[in-house]
Amino acid sequence: MKPNILLIYTGGTIGMMKDPETKALRAFDFSQLLVHIPEIKQLDCHIEPYSFEYPIDSSDMNLEEWRKLGDVIYTNYDDYDGFVVLHGSDTMSFTGSTLSFMFENLTKPIILTGSQLPIGDLRTDAKENLITSLQLAIQNNNGIPIIQEVCIYFEYQLYRANRTTKINAEHFEAFSSPNYPPLAISGVHLNIDTSLLWERKLVDPSLQVNSTAFAKAESKISTREEDNRMNYRPDFVDAVVVLKLFPGITEEVVKSICNIKGLKGIILETYGSGNALTQSWFIHLLQEALLKNIRIVNVTQCKGGAVSMGKYETSTQLMKIGVVSGKDITTEAALPKMMYLLQHTKTREDFKEYFETSLRGEITDSID
Ligand code: ASP
Repeated sequence: MKPNILLIYTGGTIGMMKDPETKALRAFDFSQLLVHIPEIKQLDCHIEPYSFEYPIDSSDMNLEEWRKLGDVIYTNYDDYDGFVVLHGSDTMSFTGSTLSFMFENLTKPIILTGSQLPIGDLRTDAKENLITSLQLAIQNNNGIPIIQEVCIYFEYQLYRANRTTKINAEHFEAFSSPNYPPLAISGVHLNIDTSLLWERKLVDPSLQVNSTAFAKAESKISTREEDNRMNYRPDFVDAVVVLKLFPGITEEVVKSICNIKGLKGIILETYGSGNALTQSWFIHLLQEALLKNIRIVNVTQCKGGAVSMGKYETSTQLMKIGVVSGKDITTEAALPKMMYLLQHTKTREDFKEYFETSLRGEITDSID
């Protein structure tokens, strides 16, 4: 039996062609995919194309579009062996991270890809990215998919999506995964390092599961009945903000952010290993926000490495007032993780416990 792959087009450069008259890039008729890339007929699988009714530039990605994408995958989950998502590269890391939280206990691959040049361009990187993504999605052992997580494939490398960040607007090598090695390299052979692949474990909070259940889940004794079932968890809370520190940031700016009506969470992008200014007004504003039940997570502005609160005096205060450590998580993953946990945890303690734990391989557990 040939594997079935659902190929979903959300938008982005990969599916665009130059209008012969206006010369502007526009999305091509996706049902004509095989006309533009006849090579994919040679792959040993059935490919069903599916296009968003209104393909978008990924700069327009938002919770509603994420939900649409999640729903397409969820409703087709049982009928396909894997999913390849064509997506603009600009916010691909955010979408990949979001999907990783939406689908708990994933048993099939979801591979996002895109390209720097449109598919109709002579020098396009789209064909290799698409063909290899499809090939990766169909890798299996006796019908069991080898990849059972959300990935990004771009320019000969397969990454865990929630570890990636877009690093270049020009080079074909547009992504990097600074804190976790690539899961596969495409050369003459497709080399998947299976030791790096995500192994499913049930850790997530659920509406019924409390901290005690969490402790049990951590020791891998799950309390859930549906142990081997994928759980679709599409509800996210959007009342969050990313506050990037910069030298000279004023009290007025921080105050107005902390006072946003209905705000539930702040991703605080700090310097180096989690350091922030030590002025008392800053700490007081954060303290006030925490008292209002706003969750605050410390994420580093550095591309690689981790937050280590307490290493310098400049982060000790953050730790003392109850700021959560993002460890080595990227901002792209921290944001949807916060949106997800705001939905599924009730207490500050649970939020901290779950945020500082790897739920989908987005964080290195061994970091303190
Ligand atoms: N602006 C485009 C997008 O993210 C760029 C790309 O497709 O890579 O949708």
